[in-house]
Amino acid sequence: MDKIQMKTPLVEMDGDEMTRILWGGIKEILISPFVDLKTEYYDLGLINREKTGDEVTVQSALATKKYGVAVKCATITPNARRVREYNLSKEWKSPNGTIRRLLDGTVFRSPILARGITPYVAGWQKPIAIARHAFGDIYDAAEYQASKGERAYIVVEKDGKELSRKLIRDFSDGEGVVQGVYNTKSSIESFARSCFNYALSEKLPVWFGAKDTVSKVYDGYFKDIFARIYETEYKTAFENAGIYYTYTLVDDVVARVVRSEGGMLWACKNYDGDVMSDMVATAYGSLGMMSSVLVSPDGKYEYEAAHGTVTRHYYAHLKGEQTSTNPIATIWAWTGALFKRGELDNIPELCAFAKRLERATLSTVESGYMTGDLIPLFKRQGITPVKLTTSEFLQKISSALSR
Ligand code: NAP
Ligand code: MG
Repeated sequence: MDKIQMKTPLVEMDGDEMTRILWGGIKEILISPFVDLKTEYYDLGLINREKTGDEVTVQSALATKKYGVAVKCATITPNARRVREYNLSKEWKSPNGTIRRLLDGTVFRSPILARGITPYVAGWQKPIAIARHAFGDIYDAAEYQASKGERAYIVVEKDGKELSRKLIRDFSDGEGVVQGVYNTKSSIESFARSCFNYALSEKLPVWFGAKDTVSKVYDGYFKDIFARIYETEYKTAFENAGIYYTYTLVDDVVARVVRSEGGMLWACKNYDGDVMSDMVATAYGSLGMMSSVLVSPDGKYEYEAAHGTVTRHYYAHLKGEQTSTNPIATIWAWTGALFKRGELDNIPELCAFAKRLERATLSTVESGYMTGDLIPLFKRQGITPVKLTTSEFLQKISSALSR
C-alpha cells in the first residue's frame, strides 16, 4: 500500500513525560505506517527549552505562523519543584502562554464522544465546544483592600490631566474591597473573529452570553463588538454554511446549554470560560477525552490535548510499571492537524485518513477496549469493558485501523 504524501510540513512540537511517550507511540504505530509524515520538528521538552533558553518555543510559534498548522504535545510548566528536578536555570514560562501571545489566539476545547461513555447530563448527544477569551478581566486586575473611612474612585487621566472621576464606593460604614478590570477593543475583536472562524470551520452555531443588563458599558462593549463583527464580516458566510450567531444573557445561556443536545460553540468571557470549561469537561467524563485547539484571528491552528503531561503515570512508567494512560486527546491533536493540513493543501486522502483513525479509535472504545480512566464511565449493554495498558490500547487501535 502506498503511503499518503503530504505537501506542506506540519509544525510538530514534542513535549514531556507520559505524553511524550504517547507521542512517539502514536506516530510510530498509528500514523507513520500510513502517511509519509512531513513535519518540521521542535523539541519543546523541558530539557531542550532549558538548553535553548526557551528560544525553541518562540521558533515553533513562528513556524506555526509561517506554515499555518501545528500539533503540540503536552509540556511541563516549571514551578520551584521542577526547577530542582530538572536542574533549571529559571522557571521558564508556560509554552502555551508564549505560543498564545505570539499567535494572538483563542483556545477552543471540545469533548470527544464515544458510544458507551455517557455524559452526566443525559441530553448531551453532541459535543459542546467552549471558547475562552484568555485576556484581561479579573486575570489582570488592580485590587485594593479598603479600610473604614476610605473612598475609592475610578480616575481617568490623559496627558497628566484628570478627565473623569467616578466614585466606586464610600467605605465610611466599614472596610471592604475594590477591583479594577479592563479589556481592549483589539483583543475582543480578535476573540470574536477567532470564534466565528472556528464556527465556520466546524459548522457550529455560536452562542455568546454576557451580563450587559447589569454591566451596560463593559459587557455591553463585548456584545456590540461581537454584533458588529458578525454583521459586517461573517453573516453571509454563516448563512451559506447554515449556521447562526446568537447573543443572550449569560445565565440564560447556561440554562439553554444544559437543556440542549450540544452541538454549539459557546463563546465565554475569560472568567466564564475558566469556570464553564471545567464544568463541561467534567460533565463529559474524562480529561483524556478533551481536545483543544488554538486558533488565531488570521486562521493559524495549533492542536493539542487539553490535559497535561500525566506526571503520576510517567513516574510509574519510569519504575517499570505498566501504565494505562489515555492517548485519545493526543490522537485527536494529530488527526485535527492532519485533517486541517489536508484541507488547506487539498489532499482528500489525508483528511480521509484522519477521520479513519478517529473512527478506529472510537470503535475500539465502543467495542469495550479502553484505558483505565474510561472503565468506570462505560455502560453498554452486553459489553464488559476491558482495561488495557497504554501500549496494548495503541496496538488495538492499530488493528482496527488496518481492518
Ligand atoms: P494532568 O497531566 O492533566 O494529569 C492530572 C491527572 O488527570 C492525572 O494524574 C490522571 O489522573 C488524569 N489524567 C490526565 N490526563 C490523562 C490521560 N490522558 N489518561 C489518563 N488519565 C489522565 O495534570 P497535572 O498532573 O496537574 O500536571 C502535570 C504536568 O502537566 C504539569 O507539569 C503541568 O505544568 C503540565 N500541564 C501542561 C499542559 C499543557 O501542556 N497544555 C496542561 C496542563 C498541565 P490519575 O492520576 O488519577 O490517573
Ligand atoms: Mg478553570
